[in-house]
Amino acid sequence: MASAESHLTDTVTNGFKLRTVIVDAGHGVKPENAPKGHYSRGADGSFSNERNVTLAIALKLQKAIEKDITGVKAVLTRSTEDDVSFERRAQIANENKGNLFISIHCNSLPDRVIRERVGGTARRPKYRTVRVPDRSGKGTLFLIYALKRSTEAENEIKANQVEGESDLGDALDPDDPVVVILTNEYKRRFRKQSVNIANLINDEIVQVDGRRSEGLRGQSIYVLCHAAMPSVLVETGYINNPEDEEYLNSEAGQTEIVNSIVRAITKYKNQMEGTGTN
Ligand SMILES: [Zn+2]
Repeated sequence: MASAESHLTDTVTNGFKLRTVIVDAGHGVKPENAPKGHYSRGADGSFSNERNVTLAIALKLQKAIEKDITGVKAVLTRSTEDDVSFERRAQIANENKGNLFISIHCNSLPDRVIRERVGGTARRPKYRTVRVPDRSGKGTLFLIYALKRSTEAENEIKANQVEGESDLGDALDPDDPVVVILTNEYKRRFRKQSVNIANLINDEIVQVDGRRSEGLRGQSIYVLCHAAMPSVLVETGYINNPEDEEYLNSEAGQTEIVNSIVRAITKYKNQMEGTGTN
């Protein structure tokens, strides 16, 4: 029966404790003799690259969680520049019995390809194709897991120019029965709280830090599907936008991002454990 009492039963007396947060630094350099799996170097900015920025933020985030949130352990999926496969990242999350999975990435817009006239006659113009950097993307984006048919996903990537499938999601086959089972499990057990944590982080970044955000979007992403826990991928900013790249590489910017995520996790913990006022 829907009543205040049953609501309390859901939120308070189920005894949930947020004990372990998995902090996932996106990308890395594929090591020599790396085990079989999917690896991805990530995007490049003008003076920095995604894999170094994500590692710097993740290391700070791990320390801040353990310092500022009592009783919560933070486990890194990688702590050096060496890349770890998508498969191993999900394994680490599950082996450590994570309650929450936070993946740190940087966004980047692909170059625009344009046709430029280079001469010829009115009747027979000559063109060449040139690639023009697109630095117009700015701010954060939150990806939560959603399985889509590949054609639809491809269209979405083209339309929105989110990180390409090859970067985040090409290890997922929508026709694979295991993926279908995990997707159903995700929807039933983890989707609601994934949206919740994404919204909490988004609110901190927009309302406290005053940054631009593109909000939440669903995308088929291997680690988010295979980690058996609520999960969100945080695109912390556009590494190919000059202002965002400065911010993402600065101590102040990294600390601001980390503090926003820690405040959001604290609120999430209080909600889920039925303590605190949020
Ligand atoms: Zn990435």
